[in-house]
Amino acid sequence: MSDDKPALASVHGAHSIDFCGHAEGDPLEDMVKEYIARGFSWFGITEHTPPVSDEFTSDEERALGLDVAAQYERFDRYMTTCRALQKKYADAVDLYVGFECESYTGAFAAAKQHREKYRPDYIVGSVHHVHDIMIDGPPEIYAQAAQKSGSIEALYCQYFDLQLDMIETLHPAVVGHFDLIRLRDPGDYKMRLKNPEILRHIRRNLERIRELDLILDFNLAALDKGADEPYVSAPILNIALELGIALVPGDDSHGVATVGRHFATGARILKERGFDTNWRRPVT
Ligand SMILES: [Zn+2]
Ligand SMILES: [Zn+2]
Repeated sequence: MSDDKPALASVHGAHSIDFCGHAEGDPLEDMVKEYIARGFSWFGITEHTPPVSDEFTSDEERALGLDVAAQYERFDRYMTTCRALQKKYADAVDLYVGFECESYTGAFAAAKQHREKYRPDYIVGSVHHVHDIMIDGPPEIYAQAAQKSGSIEALYCQYFDLQLDMIETLHPAVVGHFDLIRLRDPGDYKMRLKNPEILRHIRRNLERIRELDLILDFNLAALDKGADEPYVSAPILNIALELGIALVPGDDSHGVATVGRHFATGARILKERGFDTNWRRPVT
């Protein structure tokens, strides 16, 4: 193997059926073994946090008959299981134990409590809701969020405002899928990202990310969802490069089949752009 070949790594992923209702069906330990078999030098397990109330229980968890208390119990088991796996496979891989937090009403306080209680190695800060409405689900739900904002442009701006709140409140080591808001945009998101007001919000958040020295998740799941580029998209990548922000591939895996997805593509894009492919780790 040549020296300049980037090491295999993932800063965001390993959602498993043991602990996540919308995962693909594989137990966490099988996924850990897959990372090892594929030769990863390190990766993070960053499961979703339990909902703060029944309102935020997802359809999958509801179908499993899990109420909030049961999901808290499952999250507790998640943390214990991760630490056991970390120990069990310590000789084979550097496995980091984290979680992916939310940004709906009440989620920041919950994330702080989880952090206090479980002392994860790091957390991924994500925004999946604006006005407490899911923005990465069905298009008609996205439309509801946009309607509440008044326009799609305003929805983007409010998404980034919420993201900044999350960054300021939680200082997550990793900011997850920075421009997820583009996923369900019914128009051309690449045009949308040229909107000066949206760009101003993006730059503002990136500057803060730089000041706090956080990592941006180069989230490769987008490539499985019909996009031709990961989160973050090209114009955002340019600003991140200019500011000197660290980008690290995240496969956002939800099963064995998505472990390491599109890593080569992600690493190639970052290398071609001039990013450091000696990936920063979320834990120092
Ligand atoms: Zn998920
Ligand atoms: Zn996410």
